[in-house]
Amino acid sequence: MSFFRSVRPFIVAGPCSAETREQVLTTAAALAGMNVQLMRAGVWKPRTKPGSFEGNGVPALEWLQEAKKTYGLPVSIEVAETTHVELALQHGIDVLWIGARTTVNPFQVQRLADALKGVNIPVMVKNPVNPDVDLWEGAIERIMKAGITDVAAIHRGFSGYSTAGGYRNQPNWPIPIELKRRKPELCIICDPSHITGNKNRIAELSQKALDMHLDGLMIETHPNPDAAWSDAAQQVTPTQLKTILAGLVIREEHTHCMNGQEQLEDLRQTMDSMDAEIVDLIARRMELSGKIGAVKLANNMTVYQPARWREIVATRGQRGEMQGLTKEFVVSVYEKIHQESIRIQLGDTTAESIDAQGEVKATE
Ligand code: PEP
Ligand code: MN
Repeated sequence: MSFFRSVRPFIVAGPCSAETREQVLTTAAALAGMNVQLMRAGVWKPRTKPGSFEGNGVPALEWLQEAKKTYGLPVSIEVAETTHVELALQHGIDVLWIGARTTVNPFQVQRLADALKGVNIPVMVKNPVNPDVDLWEGAIERIMKAGITDVAAIHRGFSGYSTAGGYRNQPNWPIPIELKRRKPELCIICDPSHITGNKNRIAELSQKALDMHLDGLMIETHPNPDAAWSDAAQQVTPTQLKTILAGLVIREEHTHCMNGQEQLEDLRQTMDSMDAEIVDLIARRMELSGKIGAVKLANNMTVYQPARWREIVATRGQRGEMQGLTKEFVVSVYEKIHQESIRIQLGDTTAESIDAQGEVKATE
């Protein structure tokens, strides 16, 4: 059985970076007495700017080895180079992870996969920094193809210009959800530390991750977070970690309560017929689009008509708001519908069409 499935939620905790022997041993001592399955610590750190602390390398591997021997807690590190893999294996590291900045690079992931051939060690693959589910899945597949049988994914959020929700990295939930749909057996561990970038929001995001059916959590934990050499704002103390873990509500996909199950099935039946109506209505709308397209063609009119699209965005958005929906949501649904309409009217066989985003923004 997968190591990551030994308990749900599977908990990984430990400092962002292994800073000193004392820091590693103090953290391990605290975590060993808790409900934590795996200790993490970065020994080579991918830093955005040169001149920041880049990890202690081999001495840090020795501290982790000592921590594992003394406290019996399995240990994991990030590997980004083939030499990291070799050194980690030489020092008895139990689990390896591939960082977000490495997952983006298929050449590098392949080099790591090649270095792992013939070795059976559990590996965790963080999502790439950009929100690309194929790239994430591709990296996982490269590792699996190398013969690694125990692979997990880590959802650490996606970087970008947006600071929506005040997150350091956007959670972009549809991406881990899609990965789970494609690979139902794959364990997905959420890293609320790198998503929120804020120690005060770890608890709230951890609960959300579990409610999104993710299978575990990786929480950066440091004996003295304020003095951490990297990611100081997002690390919690072992005591705070204990409180966070104790406060989690573990929910299941199904319920044994007959009443609850029946209620759900009833509501879902109604929803199924509503969805059938929605799909039928969309099909009729597309048929109408086709007819409109023929009129435009016969009268030498453009397929895309910016004024009409602005009107649709405004009126449908407003109607949605009157019904208690957000304008953004309704408009995003109409963007899809409009793109498909345009595709039909252009007689395109490819799904690529005009990006309506600019128009939406222009109306605000
Ligand atoms: C880390 O885990 O400390 C780290 C560098 O993470 P990421 O690869 O998600 O940025
Ligand atoms: Mn970190």
